[in-house]
Amino acid sequence: MSIRPSDFTKVVHAGVEPDPRTGAIMTPIFQTSTYVQEAPNQHKGWDYSRAGNPTRDALEEAFAALEGAKYGLAFSSGLAAEQAIIQILNPGDHVLVCDDVYGGTGRLFRRLFAKYNLTFEFIDMTAVKNVEAAIKPNTRLVWIETPTNPLLKVIDIAAVTKLAHQASALVVVDNTFASPIFQSPLEMGADIVVHSTTKYIGGHSDIIGGAVMMNDDKLYEQIKFVQFAGGAVPGPFESFLLLRSVKTLAVRMEKHDANALTVARYLAEHSRVKEVFFPGLPSHPQHALAKKQMRGFAGMVSFNLKGNYDEVVSFLQKLKVFSLAESLGGVESLVNHPEKMTHASVPEEMRKQLGIGPNLIRLSCGIESADDLIKDLDQALKS
Ligand SMILES: *Cc1c(COP(=O)(O)O)cnc(C)c1O
Repeated sequence: MSIRPSDFTKVVHAGVEPDPRTGAIMTPIFQTSTYVQEAPNQHKGWDYSRAGNPTRDALEEAFAALEGAKYGLAFSSGLAAEQAIIQILNPGDHVLVCDDVYGGTGRLFRRLFAKYNLTFEFIDMTAVKNVEAAIKPNTRLVWIETPTNPLLKVIDIAAVTKLAHQASALVVVDNTFASPIFQSPLEMGADIVVHSTTKYIGGHSDIIGGAVMMNDDKLYEQIKFVQFAGGAVPGPFESFLLLRSVKTLAVRMEKHDANALTVARYLAEHSRVKEVFFPGLPSHPQHALAKKQMRGFAGMVSFNLKGNYDEVVSFLQKLKVFSLAESLGGVESLVNHPEKMTHASVPEEMRKQLGIGPNLIRLSCGIESADDLIKDLDQALKS
């Protein structure tokens, strides 16, 4: 259970070569839309920045390296990356999705893509047999998010992939919560990895971005075509900032992980806390699986607070180091109320079924001192 030592080195060097013209150690921000050609269609490899930009190219190489993939593609948001994957499907295709997906992913599938005659079926994938029962002849894609948001359920990537592949379906893993430092879905057989780089990969709460990584040449061509034809690309400046973020990913993840474990253990012992959801606690129902497929558990901890809704709000307002805000994965600690904030767009019935109620609180543990995080929780829990 620990970060691969070589990952600390890999992230520092991923994608970046000294600039050939100047020797600049960092890839410059090529803030340009077009490139001068010597003769019609004779150029240095770039003709228009929607199709390609040297700063973005370096970022895409870094993304590929992070997941140990042959290819990486950068998008203007996590959802744009997801959209590009769905756009390689055809009308009539069936997609199996784990039920506890990121709220915006569910919204994209239910409200935007369902009308294009694609069917999305949401099922609990923690029991692999549910996947087996739900696969249909037209199932083209199986969409896994693990650990899930906000309940941090863990899905067996290798087992689900085996079933999906028997039915010739592709497997996509949203690896945003674990980060490439703690989980490598392609090594477990998955076909495509997607990230919201807004979260851990960006890490500083200052960027919206997305990434897709894959090994297969044909899949790469298809998704790259959507990126080029649709144009949801990050600009050179965002690409540069993300390249810079990648360098500290391993050290940040180490601290997120350690802080979350300390916080989860503290909450599990507190009399005002009903239950804690964190894959790193032995009490978590899929702790053994999490230990097997992950190298760390990252910084997300959810829990149910005892008491009524007013007491929950009062707790949220008393926190000082944890800021009440959506999003996650940044260096600063955040607290979120999924029912009223991030998961408000999930149909109410589904929220109830999943266990996203008024008492559920989600923490994104940042990289501050663990002592300060505990002190902050402690003072807010004293009522
Ligand atoms: C935030 C998030 C997304 C969506 O990414 P954006 O960058 O907000 O578009 C997708 N999946 C997960 C798990 C997320 O946390």
